[in-house]
Amino acid sequence: MDAEQLRENAHKMVDFIADYYKNIETFPVLSQVEPGYLQKLLPDSAPLQPESLQAVLQDVQTKILPGVTHWQSPDYFAYFPSNSSVAGFLGEMLSAGINMVGFSWITSPAATELEMIVLDWLADLLKLPNDFLSKGPGGGAIQGTASEAILVALLAARDNVLREVGKDALGRLVVYGSDQTHSSLQKACQIAGIHPGNLRLLRTETCNEYALSPESLTDAISHDVTSGLIPLFLCATVGTTSSTAVDPLLALGKITKKYGIWLHVDAAYAGSACICPEYRHHLNGVEEADSFNMNCHKWFLTNFDCSALWIKDRTALIRSLSTNPEYLKNKASQGSTVIDYKDWQIPLGRRFRSLKLWMVLRLYGVENLQSYIRNHIKLAQQFEDLVAQDTRFEIVAVRTFSLVCFRLLPANKNEEHANKLNRDLLDAVNSSGKIFITHTVLSSKYVLRLVVGAPLTEERHIIAAWKLIQNEASSRLESA
Ligand code: PLP
Repeated sequence: MDAEQLRENAHKMVDFIADYYKNIETFPVLSQVEPGYLQKLLPDSAPLQPESLQAVLQDVQTKILPGVTHWQSPDYFAYFPSNSSVAGFLGEMLSAGINMVGFSWITSPAATELEMIVLDWLADLLKLPNDFLSKGPGGGAIQGTASEAILVALLAARDNVLREVGKDALGRLVVYGSDQTHSSLQKACQIAGIHPGNLRLLRTETCNEYALSPESLTDAISHDVTSGLIPLFLCATVGTTSSTAVDPLLALGKITKKYGIWLHVDAAYAGSACICPEYRHHLNGVEEADSFNMNCHKWFLTNFDCSALWIKDRTALIRSLSTNPEYLKNKASQGSTVIDYKDWQIPLGRRFRSLKLWMVLRLYGVENLQSYIRNHIKLAQQFEDLVAQDTRFEIVAVRTFSLVCFRLLPANKNEEHANKLNRDLLDAVNSSGKIFITHTVLSSKYVLRLVVGAPLTEERHIIAAWKLIQNEASSRLESA
């Protein structure tokens, strides 16, 4: 690494990225390329001799960017957001610059200690119980994704129980969630060796706004206990992926406590909103949880990837995931006075991800972060009002945060027709390249989802998005 070469080229790269952001609204939000497009544009093998940065950036502009879906576009309303920010970007840059691999405390003490501190700060902002803080028996660790957070929590829970009842009982362990729980729970079960028939995704009802009902959980547990099975783990969600439903943590927590079930709370998207006092009540009951995760890379201005996981009993996690090979032994680790984050996650190596979260918290401050969330929720409310005023549409689920679930109604009220109509509408809207929204299915209805959460989105983007949807709806209804 030549410092002067870095300085010169990094300046060019920052200019390139700044120009990208300046022009981001000119790109089709959803990439419009066909599968295999890049193979036709790039050579079959790597160059033998070095090329110039200018030549590479030219290719990025003409060949790579057309194949990019622009998650940072203000017209991006799909899935859930994946925020970037100046602070998050600078933190990523610094992390890439230092480029250390902080698996044990000794491999970079600052990386481990900063991670402990920023996750304690964030736990404090979310008003998580003290048991989740690093000063007690628990603590936080940054995982790459919510999927990893849920998996490691499940592994800790599984091994806690198997130590008690014996390894042969693996096939009798039961995991609970709802039909709205993110598919990462299913994947975690597959990896953890939970019998496929022992994952209970309990049915939610429209009258409960797609939240998990405590009664259905009790019924399922009672049935399983009677059948000689062992209830192990519940993954409750605050802000489900399809409709941002909130599972009633207080009531569910009482049940999990009664049966000795590990309660994990997945607040991957909506956790960010809970730094605002007026949304914090959605976490009431988190005191009963054994573990909790929130994706800072979704809606907290922290560049991907940064999924915060807190756990009440870090020993459970460490017992499941620790290894102690000779070549990693050192005085600090052997003295058990430090945290070695390698024992809290699947991989050994880990990045200095706390830097970007620390920079986000310091360069914006809590009040700005709260205003940021509130502004998106206000914009979502505005969009919802626009939809509600057009009688050709219906709002399909209660809006709790910044997601609006809606659909176009066909004149003939036929459900099959309604689903096709909305599928066609989604295709038309997205292939315009002007906005990107996605869909889900709720109670057999094909539903359009518009999530406000891209950092650059303003009121004018919401209004333009709605006009586009209305115009495309008119064309679909006329041609029907
Ligand atoms: N949980 C919820 C509620 C989600 O919405 C998502 C993704 O959107 C996930 C988990 C999985 O997130 P990740 O990609 O971080 O694994």
